[in-house]
Amino acid sequence: ENLSNQIAAGEVIERPASVVKELVENAIDAGADRIRVDFTDAGLRQIVVQDNGSGIARDEIDLAFTRHATSKIQTERDLFNVGTLGFRGEALASIAAVARVEILTAVKGQVGVVADFSGGVKKRQEDAAAKEGTQITVSDLFYNTPARLKYLKSPRTETMRIVDIINRIALGHAEISFILANNGKVLLHTPGNGKLKQTVANIYGRKLAEGMLEFAASDPDFAISGLTTKPEVTRSSRNFISLLLNGRYIRNNQLNNAIMDAYGAKLAAKHYPVTILKIETDPLLVDVNVHPTKQEVRLSKEKELSRLITSTLGACLLKASQ
Ligand code: ADP
Ligand code: MG
Repeated sequence: ENLSNQIAAGEVIERPASVVKELVENAIDAGADRIRVDFTDAGLRQIVVQDNGSGIARDEIDLAFTRHATSKIQTERDLFNVGTLGFRGEALASIAAVARVEILTAVKGQVGVVADFSGGVKKRQEDAAAKEGTQITVSDLFYNTPARLKYLKSPRTETMRIVDIINRIALGHAEISFILANNGKVLLHTPGNGKLKQTVANIYGRKLAEGMLEFAASDPDFAISGLTTKPEVTRSSRNFISLLLNGRYIRNNQLNNAIMDAYGAKLAAKHYPVTILKIETDPLLVDVNVHPTKQEVRLSKEKELSRLITSTLGACLLKASQ
């Protein structure tokens, strides 16, 4: 049971950044509008995520840490109709299987609770004073699965992955204030006032943000909006293109290409724009269940969406050049 837990955990929790992603998505699902992430030693020694969301009731702690028990999927149809970021009920169980986890949480009007897990087993649970919300501390990640550690890149690279994932989530949620701190040093602090440009300024710098072009359009299936740079302002990596589908950060090469197509020959080889593209659509058109980390999604009308993206950004760039 423990071994199968650890194997399943490996699918969801590949590296410290996976822990950060899952915990932050849970905080968002819990309705938090302030989320703070602290980490030390590239997330291997400790990751702490604090939120002011709904909290977990005392008698639901065990359920929250049991694989699939909390899965929001009741029927096959639900697979496609996912309104929350989490839905597999795997993250907390997976993290607790490969690390030491402490949770301090309280729901409104109730006594809080503190509980410890390690190696997938609950070691302690007690009432505790806590304000509404949740604080999860993950220590000694992969302490019991040393083979995992060998697959990790350098501390610098793992740190960059944590920063990258928080940047992208923050770009998708300008209405949430995020703080990210490494060894106590604040790397990112977004205002959470709903203004995308200000969030972009915090992440990529004010100068870049101010020069970005705004776009928005819709067809019967999709509404798209966002910010993109002029053709002369580029980066040498596709990493500066952020796709957010119904608030979820996704990867999709066809949509990346649709953005690039709008620039056409205006982009030099190996140059990429900085683009934040938000896509809203009926969850029925999305299959988020392609990969356990849920970053790869399949869309029923990808061609139509690509066309909408290319034409909207194309018109936006044309207007800016006139
Ligand atoms: P999933 O998000 O797929 O449901 P998780 O393992 O990530 O599965 O979380 C299990 C459950 O624990 C969630 O469904 C939620 O009810 C609860 N939970 C986890 N994190 C939080 C949080 N930060 N605030 C409130 N509830 C939480
Ligand atoms: Mg989750």
